[in-house]
Amino acid sequence: MSETTKSTQVAVVGGGPGGYAAAFRAADMGMQVALIDAEPNPGGVCLYRGCIPSKALLHAAYVLGEARHAANWGITFAPPKVDLDKLRTWKEGVVRKLTGGLGQLAKARSVRYVQGYASLLDARTLQIQRDGADAERLTTEHTILATGSRPATLPNFPKDSERIWDSTDALELQSIPKTMLVVGGGYIGLELGTVYAALGTEVSVVEMMPGLLPGVDRDLVTPLAKRLEKTFRAIMLNTKVAAVKEEKNGLRVRFEGEMAPAEERDYEAILVSVGRKPNSTIPGLDKTRAEVDARGFIKVDGQRRTAEPGVFAIGDVAGEPMLAHKASHEGFTAVEAIAGHKAVFEPQAIPAVVFTDPEIAWCGLTETQAEKENRKIQVVRFPWAASGRATTLDRNDGVTKLVIDPDTERILGVGITGLNAGEMIAEGVLAVEMGAKAADLALSIHPHPTLSETVMEAAEIFFGQSTHLYRPKKK
Ligand code: NAD
Repeated sequence: MSETTKSTQVAVVGGGPGGYAAAFRAADMGMQVALIDAEPNPGGVCLYRGCIPSKALLHAAYVLGEARHAANWGITFAPPKVDLDKLRTWKEGVVRKLTGGLGQLAKARSVRYVQGYASLLDARTLQIQRDGADAERLTTEHTILATGSRPATLPNFPKDSERIWDSTDALELQSIPKTMLVVGGGYIGLELGTVYAALGTEVSVVEMMPGLLPGVDRDLVTPLAKRLEKTFRAIMLNTKVAAVKEEKNGLRVRFEGEMAPAEERDYEAILVSVGRKPNSTIPGLDKTRAEVDARGFIKVDGQRRTAEPGVFAIGDVAGEPMLAHKASHEGFTAVEAIAGHKAVFEPQAIPAVVFTDPEIAWCGLTETQAEKENRKIQVVRFPWAASGRATTLDRNDGVTKLVIDPDTERILGVGITGLNAGEMIAEGVLAVEMGAKAADLALSIHPHPTLSETVMEAAEIFFGQSTHLYRPKKK
């Protein structure tokens, strides 16, 4: 096929929340923009096979859980039945609606969306391969690489087995296996394990570290771990998979480590969720001065500029945390830098949310990090056992905590476990970013009865007591 030649001011490679947010912002600032991605519409992994479909399924899982839980309050339903085809169709509809919406938003902003695969010919020229259409040569003043990440794989697992899934396979929802082994007790393993457990799968988790969600403060993880001990068949910590054999009807697994069962176990499916790898092997990247570090991340400065001045990198490919909202904000910084503004990516608090049941969310300084850095902090905790709203929801399994600088009384970090923690953490982000003090949270009137009051009451504890929690002073 022949090749057409076009030019633009900004080319964004990768249409996920990093890439599309950058492209939209650049267009809003008056730049001519091309956004390149292999999918028919913008969205990236997050919308097509990540955040969005998983949250749709987690909502369904929550409703199933609540239907069962309602028996505690005298409400019983016939045992809930799952129509897998309908559930899958609904999830696909959610994805279609949102990605289609992004396509419309791109059009409305005059962002030129090019469906295809980009490679770099040099720092200012891209070549785009398009299925069933002429290749395109695109000259550009600036390029933003937002190519994202892909699931990490394990070397000792059988290749090409239909029973060994990554997150993409699990989200396709082709079947509900009777038994599933989740390898890796991180974000993905616990979220998707929760979905399949609610759908009726007997889920076991194997995690090589001593606890689930390594790196997250233990007091935040405990309420979730307690609940998962009931919903999952087994949680094997400090344990690894030693060998996997494909048999006629499933996968035979041998474990090693502290909680390894003595005998081999059979599973219908295995979900591998042991982290993600940056997509930095972009063809032609070596023709620029951009560098890649030992872990595969493209090296960037505070403006997300690579060693090649016209080339930027944002999102998962440019370093951790691999979170959609961090990618979008890096995209804004890169675009502002292109526009010549003195922008820099320096957040005080990037929120993280694990959308399990209960949810876990945190932002800013964590207790774990403070201990590592030997920082002087004071931690206050408000247990949800003392929250009226949590009691009305029959969900007292939660905690809200604040990490405070004892000298300045500033809020340095916030951690929340419980229903809706993911929504509530936004107040924590605002507090940390605005340099709020404990008094600001304690004196801001929070609506009653809500879970958000737990943030206010935690701040009250910093000054002695909170209304709904009384701890006698030590004599
Ligand atoms: P993760 O890093 O959260 O968890 C991987 C887990 O696997 C870790 O606990 C690790 O100790 C364990 N592990 C690694 N090798 C192992 C082995 N051989 N045997 C047993 N355990 C092993 O990674 P993930 O869950 O795959 O998610 C990848 C990334 O995607 C996350 O880091 C996150 O940035 C992003 N993500 C975010 C969300 C969200 O924001 N809610 C949801 C899903 C994914």
